Amino acid sequence: ELETRLAIRRNDEIGVLSDSINHLAVELQRYRDTRQEFLANISHELRTPITYLEGYARVLRQRLYDTEEEKDKYLDIIHEEAKRVERLVDDLFDLAKMEEGVISLSLEWIDLAEIADNAVRKIRLKADAKQLSLRTDLAPGTPLVYGDGLRLEQIVLNLLENAVRYTEKGGIAVELGQRSGRVFLAVEDTGIGIPEEEAPYIFDRFYRVEKSRSRRYGGSGLGLAIARKLVELQGGELGVESRPGRGSRFEIRLDPGRREEDGPPEGREAD
Ligand code: ADP
Repeated sequence: ELETRLAIRRNDEIGVLSDSINHLAVELQRYRDTRQEFLANISHELRTPITYLEGYARVLRQRLYDTEEEKDKYLDIIHEEAKRVERLVDDLFDLAKMEEGVISLSLEWIDLAEIADNAVRKIRLKADAKQLSLRTDLAPGTPLVYGDGLRLEQIVLNLLENAVRYTEKGGIAVELGQRSGRVFLAVEDTGIGIPEEEAPYIFDRFYRVEKSRSRRYGGSGLGLAIARKLVELQGGELGVESRPGRGSRFEIRLDPGRREEDGPPEGREAD
């Protein structure tokens, strides 16, 4: 009787084992698929601007323009497309470093009100150019957070750039406050919004709500993927709420630090 019981148990174990092997195989395949897709995306994203570069360089070389203004226009396009390639390569490099876990953050006590003010100052010209209002609502006395100031500013600026890019009328508000024990910094716009079923995917690499959108608006499709990764590396979250045609609200949530004299929160240290 003992032998039968042992045999049954062995069978069970083999069953469990083969289940997990199957599971691993599926995971591995999925990983291969996404990597494949990622590479296909990169090559597409690089190819597009390069095609423009080649095309307009040829137009100039063969002097296929009538006026000096036309020539300048083509030179501007070449400049813009070269910039696009540069930005894409930088973004990809950043993302790769983060995924390999080799990006180093310099953590210190950060006043998010200062971060918000700096980012808003930098975006103001672009907002003015589109006649969008730009206001801040920063609750005084919001606790400091323990994070990487430069990176946080980069993230907020990125959210602001998107807000300006995807808003045609109305404006943008930056809000700082506290909710449910966390500090939040939100960038809200009155822009085109994001369809509900697509909202979860906009943080994926290269995901765009409309494939043609980004070319028209000039983004790389990597901004939010990088932003979310960076926030997570600092122990926080980046989320979105949006209503198509009404606007979007992106929110960074971070743990409040204790008082400055107390030193870094446990478990996380500056490098
Ligand atoms: P991109 O460089 O294309 O803007 P992001 O990763 O920054 O790439 O954003 C991904 C996609 O999310 C965008 O292509 C756009 O469709 C959508 N999106 C991002 N921010 C906003 C916003 N404030 N309003 C509407 N759509 C947005």
